[in-house]
Amino acid sequence: MLGATGSIGASALDVVARHPDRFRVGALAAHRNVAALAELCARFNPALAVIADASLEAELRERLRAANLPIRVAAGAEALIEAAADAACDTVIAAIVGAAGLESTLAAARAGKRLLLANKEAVVMAGPLLRAALDAGGGELLPIDSEHNAVFQCLPPARAGLDAAGVRRIVLTASGGPFRGRRMESLDAITPDMACAHPNWRMGRKISVDSATLMNKGLEVIEAHFLFDAPAERIEVVVHPQSIVHSMVEYADGSVLAQLGNPDMRTALAYALAWPERIDAGVAALDLLRIARLDFEAPDRETFACLDLAYGALAAGGSAPITLNAANEEAVAAFLAGRLPFLAIPQVIENAMEMAPASDVATLAGVIDADLTARRVAQRIIASAKD
Ligand code: NAD
Ligand code: MG
Repeated sequence: MLGATGSIGASALDVVARHPDRFRVGALAAHRNVAALAELCARFNPALAVIADASLEAELRERLRAANLPIRVAAGAEALIEAAADAACDTVIAAIVGAAGLESTLAAARAGKRLLLANKEAVVMAGPLLRAALDAGGGELLPIDSEHNAVFQCLPPARAGLDAAGVRRIVLTASGGPFRGRRMESLDAITPDMACAHPNWRMGRKISVDSATLMNKGLEVIEAHFLFDAPAERIEVVVHPQSIVHSMVEYADGSVLAQLGNPDMRTALAYALAWPERIDAGVAALDLLRIARLDFEAPDRETFACLDLAYGALAAGGSAPITLNAANEEAVAAFLAGRLPFLAIPQVIENAMEMAPASDVATLAGVIDADLTARRVAQRIIASAKD
């Protein structure tokens, strides 16, 4: 469980705890929250605990020793990669946020694990490398992002490509975030807490801001492109404020298959953990009479410019999605730290995409290099935006 102390981590461990007969936690990994990690260790008793921030290794050891837990401890970014390929685990939940999850996600794929993929940034950065790693490892990828999990559920089991399956389009639903319906002029005094107050989902702060800018949907368009081998023009985004229809697949005969459910990530996690079986996720039954209506509207692409920036990055190809993602991570971090206004997020990304050199990225080293270059460019833009 990579990203055990996060929002996805909590949902995943909740499902795991409901099925002690099926699942055992082999390893738990987190970034810095050593107290939360130690607590999870006491609850789930994994064989291995990994703290990515190596300066906290001694504290983790001490906490586990004080709690009398004979758990192996490892620390640092390299330890995440090793844990992802650990022979004792057959399933890896990749739920680290951002580019920090790239190498461990790839390692799990290469090691042939069942890869439960929440870390969408890794796909955006390195879709082709991830595909190659999955092919080499012979494992399987199950999407955790609710939209992609829905699409996965609505596609036929044998994936010979969209045309062979008679698929016309993939329709990703978007809640529209906390500022749906608002015009640009009204968004200039948005604070981090306002942006993180999502109407339907409780998530980590980075993805919450992405939902507020619609960059989350933009990243998901790119994610869908790589996961389902779908060209951009066959991926459509529809705003659906209730977040009950998690996404849809439209077929050549006019059929549209949708996956519905309450907005609760445990559904996707339980589906992927047990696939192809179905197990209890602890999620309340869907009460359609109480929900009563499902609405759909077009996204406001002008106010929420990040969506089209992502389509643009997908069309440009090469390192453009890496630049998009890196600039977004930097801009969101600056916004969350009070160093950048909300409305400047798309501007930083657009400028970074113009300024960062485009390159073809066929290797992991190339991906990492493009990511670091884009971050430096974005940081310069953010610093000058402040002056
Ligand atoms: P979060 O902020 O709640 O948790 C992030 C986790 O990643 C934490 O456990 C943290 O310790 C770990 N982490 C952060 N930086 C790290 C680093 N450098 N090294 C190692 N570990 C690190 O985030 P979240 O909401 O759980 O999201 C996790 C991922 O899942 C993101 O990619 C997000 O886009 C995706 N996702 C989340 C949701 C959701 O409902 N929360 C839905 C769909 C997709
Ligand atoms: Mg999603």
